[in-house]
Order: sequence, then C-alpha cells, then structure tokens
Amino acid sequence: MHNGIGVSPGVVVGVAYRVESVLGLSEPKTLENPAQIPAEIAYFDRAVEEAESELEGLVQRVAQELGPSAAEIFQTHLQILGDPGLLSRVHSLIEKQSLTALSALHQVMNRYVAQFARIEQDYFRERLNDLRDVILRVGSHLTRKKEPVPDGAIESHDDNEPVILVAHEILPSQAMSLGDLPIAGIVTEVGGSTSHAAILARSRGIPAVSGVEGIMNDVASGDLMVVDGREGHVLVRPEQEATMAYRKVQREFFHLKDSLISNRDEPARSLDGTRAELLANINNLADADAAHTVGASGVGLFRTEYLFLTHHDVPGEEEQYEYYRQIVLNSPGQTVTIRTLDLGGDKTVPYLGRRSEPNPFMGWRSIRIFFENPKLLITQIRAILRAGRHGKVSMLFPMVTTLEELRKINKMVKETRDNLRREGVLFAEDVKTGVMVEVPAAVFCIDALLRETDFISIGSNDLIQYLVAADRDNPKVAYLCEPLSPAIFRVLQMVLDACARTGTPVTLCGEMAGQPRSALVLFGMGLRRFSMSPAFIPTVKNLLAGVTTAQAERFAHHVLQLSTSDEIRSYLTARLREISSTLEIFDSV
Ligand code: PEP
Ligand code: MG
Repeated sequence: MHNGIGVSPGVVVGVAYRVESVLGLSEPKTLENPAQIPAEIAYFDRAVEEAESELEGLVQRVAQELGPSAAEIFQTHLQILGDPGLLSRVHSLIEKQSLTALSALHQVMNRYVAQFARIEQDYFRERLNDLRDVILRVGSHLTRKKEPVPDGAIESHDDNEPVILVAHEILPSQAMSLGDLPIAGIVTEVGGSTSHAAILARSRGIPAVSGVEGIMNDVASGDLMVVDGREGHVLVRPEQEATMAYRKVQREFFHLKDSLISNRDEPARSLDGTRAELLANINNLADADAAHTVGASGVGLFRTEYLFLTHHDVPGEEEQYEYYRQIVLNSPGQTVTIRTLDLGGDKTVPYLGRRSEPNPFMGWRSIRIFFENPKLLITQIRAILRAGRHGKVSMLFPMVTTLEELRKINKMVKETRDNLRREGVLFAEDVKTGVMVEVPAAVFCIDALLRETDFISIGSNDLIQYLVAADRDNPKVAYLCEPLSPAIFRVLQMVLDACARTGTPVTLCGEMAGQPRSALVLFGMGLRRFSMSPAFIPTVKNLLAGVTTAQAERFAHHVLQLSTSDEIRSYLTARLREISSTLEIFDSV
C-alpha cells in the first residue's frame, strides 16, 4: 500500500493507465515499416513549422499586450526552434533508428537533460526550461494530430474495469485535455490538494490521491489498483480480500452519488428551513455544465487562469469576452463570480517571464503581477465588465493583502469603466467587485477592506497555507494544512463576524466548503454562501437538510472551545454520523 494525500474523496477499484508526459521516459517507439521514414520526417517538419508560426504569432500578440520585453522569451524560443542542430538530431534518429517523431523528440530532450544536469548555474537551467518549452510545443503539435493521448489505451482494456490515471504529475494543459476521457480515479506522485490533478478530479467527482512518492516505479498499465481518496491510500495489485472490501465501498459510493443528485431542484436549507446558497467553483465551460447538472445556485468562483494556462497564446479581450459570455449564458438568472487571473505559485505562463523564485507562493503571484503588468489585468476587467451585460456578474480579486493594493485595483476598475464609457463600448454598470480573503494580513485589517469592497470571498486553501506556514502542495507538510483546526476556525470566525457586523455578503470558496464536517461548522458559524466543486453540491445539500440551525450553532460553539485538530475531527465525525450514516465517504481526512 502507498500513502499520499486524499485530494478528492470516494473509492474506486480499477486498472492503471500510466500517463507518460510528452517528455516522459517512455520506451522508444519505432515505426512499423522503414518505408514510413520520409513521411514521418515530413510530419515532424510540419509540426515544427506549426510551432514556428504559433511562436511568431505569440511574439506579436505579447508585444502588443504586454510590451516588447515580455515578448523576448518567445524570440528566444524561435531561435531555439531554428537551431539546425536540434532538428537534425531528431531527423537522424528517425532515419537511423526508425523512431517515431515523438520518440525521437523524447530522446533528444533526454540527452539535453542529461547534459544540462551536470551544469550548476541557474542561467543554464533556465535555458533548459526554454528548450523544454519548445520541445513540448512541437510535441503537442505532433500528438494533437496523430496520437490523441490515452484514448486508444483506455479502449484497449476490454474488461469493464474503470480506468485510473497514474502520473508523475499532470500539467494544466493535460488536465484539460484529459477532461473528456472516461477516467474513474487519479493518482499522482507530486502535488497536493490544489494541484491541477486534484482540481480536475474534484470537478469530475472522481476519487484522487496525490503526493504518492514512487508510485510510477510500482505500477504498470493494466495493473489492478484501489484508490481511496478519503484516506489517501493507494493499493497496487491488491489481495482478493481487500479488493472485495473496496469494491463494496465503491458500490456504496456510486449508489450514494446517484441517489443524492435527485435533490438538484430542491433549495438548500437546514432542517428548520434556514436557506443557504450552494455555488460552484468552476474552471471552464465543462464545469459550468456540471454545475448546472447538480443544481448549483450560481458560480461562486470561476478560476479564469485555466483559460490562460491551456492557451498557446495570450487570450485577447474579444476572446475572453466571448468565453465569459458563454459561461454567463450557461447560468441564466444566477450570479457568476469571475476571479481575475491568479497566476504565479505553481501556475506559470511563459509570457510573464520565467523567473525562478525561491518561494513562488510567497512571491510574485496573483494581483501582485499586475502592478507591473497592468495592461493584462485591464484587458481582463474590460472583458468581464462587457460580459456582465449578459447576466449577473461579479468580479473577484485574489490575494489582496493590504488596503493600498485594494485601492490600486479599485482605481483601475474605475478608470476602465470610464474608458469604456468614453469609447462607447457597452458594459454592465452593476458588476460588483469583491476581495478574496486568503492572506492573514487581510483578516487582520478586514474592517478597512470591508469599507471599500462590495463583497468578500474567503479562499481558505491559501488562507490555511499562509496561516500555518506550510506549502499546500507539499505532501511532507500536508498534516499542517488541516482545515479542521482550532486556529483556522478562529480566524474564519473573525472574518464572518466582521462581515455580519457590516452586512457584507461573504462566501467561502476553498475546499472546506464542500467537505461535510467543515461545512457543518461553517454553517453553524453563520456562513450562508458556500462555493465548491460541483460534485460536492448534492452532498452538502443533503447534509444541511439533516441538521437544524441551532444544532449546527452548538457544534460550531463546541468546536471553537477545542484545542487540537484530533479533538475537532473526532467530535465532528461523531456528529456527522448522527446526522447521516453515509455522508462520511465524501469527506477526505
Ligand atoms: C483558495 O485559495 O481557497 C481558493 C479558492 O483559490 P485557489 O484554490 O484557486 O487558490
Ligand atoms: Mg487562493
């Protein structure tokens, strides 16, 4: 058995499918017939040409959107791609060893990695990153046309076992392209509860475990596996007895999920009728559909960075506007809260410069980036204000730390509105603006922030990592990123009290909003707007229907008196079992 972090609850038994990344160390693949060599070379050359024209487009777009210095990185990439040495190495491997174009590209990359590994200086490491980017880009053109990632392999499992993806890491672009495949579980070696793999898994409601060191050395595609997303356990080639026991839990999990969704048209309310809003966290249009299917009462958090992360280019104002408009039209009559770009930390795009920072989560991330690159934020604000005409839209700013930052943003929003007005461009005047409270400093100056913002959204994922000084994606310190802890609940109570005093609308959009035990306490503490992965909405609705407001208040009051996470966890587990004998399966520990 391997242990990791349970990042998406539920249990599944299935067969493994290993995802080798484009740069993975997979076995080299050769062509079936040497006669295919010239066609394979031509096919590779076409992919290079496509990558080249894509890069040329990027140089222009980025220079226009962000200025010429930001476009330099793509100039460098064009030079790398134009290097005859790189191309001739790939050609020669196809010719002499009959490798497929993709395998030849892998081999060349691996050789570069080996060469660079001996070099200490950061400068050369950065160049390796650039080279990797270029090779990935060419690779993505090759795979896009010929080898639609794991489709074939998934179909080749003729038994009816569900498929479990096993990967070292899932990149944002892969996470989205895997979105439509019939996957029933995900296991990764790196990443924590907010990695792309975790977000993908939760948005699809499938069990997932991250941070499972060494799993790639132990699993072959086709192996039977168990993924227990509640406990963070992964079993490879399990004994028959364990398999049977887990299959039973899996059946219960599926059955329960199916039966819960029947509450989609009922309002969310407690046993005594106190209403709550259960909103969806979405990353793309597919998630917006999922939100609709489960009966979300709106979108509490649209993470726009996925639009940028999966884009080969910088999405311009028109493209963003069109995308946001689609999302808004998908939720008629409901509020859609669009969060401005939250890049940095683990989410990087090359056009913002690839600086390696010693502490990326403490560094140049989120709105901090835009004080240096205001144009990118202004373009986004324009697109959001314009999309506001098609429904009820709010705009949310992540990582606000000080009142000065909030004032700078408010000034940008005001100037953008003025400019749109002056240009005669139609936009919605009533788009509300809000602040994410996810940095402890924002909690301690909350009263000042509340005076200058329309609403608050608590980002508990980040708030927790910053409160406990532990990287939320690092499995070694995952035990500290525990939402069920005395410090977290006390801090949350401060924010909720401040919002209640001033009558400011407040939502909590971190993962704890969708976890039964923490949701119970939050409801008891007075929270009425919960935003979560769509898959959790039926569960939380069912949970609230089984508890009175007074009961939940008592639970919250009691929890705030406890001094350790263990006490809180066991107290809440007991309360949850009294309310429902089944919902525990949806809670990751
Ligand atoms: C959070 O920090 O709680 C949050 C919802 O935002 P993200 O997970 O995208 O940082
Ligand atoms: Mg956050």
